[in-house]
Amino acid sequence: MTAASERHMQRVRELGCLICQRPASAHNIREERIKDDWLTIPLCPDHHLGAFSIHKSKRQFENIYGSELHLLAETIKKLSENKPTYLLSK
Ligand SMILES: [Zn+2]
Ligand SMILES: [Zn+2]
Repeated sequence: MTAASERHMQRVRELGCLICQRPASAHNIREERIKDDWLTIPLCPDHHLGAFSIHKSKRQFENIYGSELHLLAETIKKLSENKPTYLLSK
């Protein structure tokens, strides 16, 4: 993890859960066994690790909410609409 990737993941978390907008942690997408800080999507504890989450029942989750790659595209789109944290006034 680098300072730049940590800053990126902070911005991803600040978007809030992609599904329900609650406070989120960063989920590493696992297409093609890639694990990369830059390929992360924000999910709340329920959607990340709960009973019908991306970790516990990935197929069901993706049937309802779309594939990890689709959600990654959504994350990138939201980030491009958001001002970077360092530009926000305190
Ligand atoms: Zn995860
Ligand atoms: Zn959620």
